[in-house]
Amino acid sequence: MEQADVVVVGSGFGGLAAAKQLAKSGISYVLISSTPEHLFQPLLYQVATGVLASEEIAPPIATVLRRHKEADVRLGKVVGIEPDTAVLTYEHEGVRSQIRYGSLIAATGASQSYFGRDDFADKTFSLKTIDDAKVLRAQIERVFTEAAAADEETRNRLLSFVVVGAGATGVEVAGQLKELAKRHYHQEVSVTLVEGAGAVLPPFGGGLSEYAKKSLTGSGVEVLLSTFVTDIELGKVTVKDSDGVERGIAAETVVWSAGVQVGGFAQLLAEATGCETDRAGRLLINPDLTVGGHADIYAIGDMTSLNGYPGQSPVAMQEGRHAADIIRRKKRPGTPFKYWDKGSMAVISRFSAVVKLNDRVTFRGVIAWSMWLAVHLMYLVGFRNRFAAVASWLVAFIGTGRPGFDEVEKVPAPVSAAERVAA
Ligand SMILES: Cc1cc2nc3c(=O)[nH]c(=O)nc-3n(C[C@H](O)[C@H](O)[C@H](O)COP(=O)(O)OP(=O)(O)OC[C@H]3O[C@@H](n4cnc5c(N)ncnc54)[C@H](O)[C@@H]3O)c2cc1C
Repeated sequence: MEQADVVVVGSGFGGLAAAKQLAKSGISYVLISSTPEHLFQPLLYQVATGVLASEEIAPPIATVLRRHKEADVRLGKVVGIEPDTAVLTYEHEGVRSQIRYGSLIAATGASQSYFGRDDFADKTFSLKTIDDAKVLRAQIERVFTEAAAADEETRNRLLSFVVVGAGATGVEVAGQLKELAKRHYHQEVSVTLVEGAGAVLPPFGGGLSEYAKKSLTGSGVEVLLSTFVTDIELGKVTVKDSDGVERGIAAETVVWSAGVQVGGFAQLLAEATGCETDRAGRLLINPDLTVGGHADIYAIGDMTSLNGYPGQSPVAMQEGRHAADIIRRKKRPGTPFKYWDKGSMAVISRFSAVVKLNDRVTFRGVIAWSMWLAVHLMYLVGFRNRFAAVASWLVAFIGTGRPGFDEVEKVPAPVSAAERVAA
């Protein structure tokens, strides 16, 4: 059977950071991922709203790692693991292959949770993959184009959006939809943001959450807090507030950005190793990032839960480097992982954002927006992509264009509810 010193599963933030760190010591590795790209998820909403083209945030992982002579990049979905014999099984185009690993770093991420209403997946648009962003972009283009030639009643119906979840993604999508309508399409839209918690951007809290809410409301977004979605039908979302009052909201397009569920390889790993999981299916890993009693298996990023660290890219990247450092003997086996929290940021609309470095140091408005642009530019992979993104941002934020809408491509078929939940 084929053997590899290290196998990395996943080409997201965690997998890429681990791969790059291993390469520093010249350690050979096989990276297996079910998607060919390295996806910069924080900018998915900009692809969906036409600000950026998809290739600017999703370069092929093989291209990203092309200068790493240690890298062997393969497209495949890992479908089985035997921890006692250290064998992984993966599948590509119906062909099954097996590989024996010296060490394994699993970084397969998370998918969307519909809180027990998996039927909502077929009635809403999500933003987890590059295909999700393209499908939502096609929907946005369709409703605005049809609305331009429609009578008033039809136009109001077509241009009704509900965004579920007022975390960073929900806030960014809601703000961008308003801006898109005003500056690019010059049409009126109704955008309602529904959040179960009592604040917008709950982890930011206090003044920043208030500022975000005020900015959104000021731009015309209706913000419903302490409100839950109870049903979704064609053209209508039913919500219930904290007093138990139900109401229907017209919605041609519903964007779902609430909740995280982990299944797929994390579930296989939990079953094979006996590692416990939390309610969202995240692996409860050991402090040194190993899984169960297996010192040769590391799990990192969104598929895991450790010390309440947030499901964010810096956690996945730092964990990836930590696991790689133990493997390349720069850290002693068993060294506990410690997250260095450099802060959080979220964009509300053009020239408006919030940044929280810590409880005392916060920024809002244009300064925060500029910081957001700089940080995202820095972390975007590849010089060409950075250059292209700056050009697109100038067109979209200083001008009124949407270069992403010019991307000519076949729109991928929407993924079914069952597939999304199982991913
Ligand atoms: C819309 C959106 C906006 C976000 N915004 C921010 C933000 O502003 N700031 C921030 O810090 N974080 C943000 N995040 C969170 C951040 O993107 C994640 O925390 C980060 O991507 C986690 O990295 P990961 O490596 O664990 O997983 P991912 O980056 O999700 O990568 C998972 C990889 O595993 C692969 N994979 C999955 N299953 C298999 C399998 N069975 N076999 C092989 N490969 C498999 C996938 O193809 C993918 O390559 C956002 C996330 C989303 C969805």
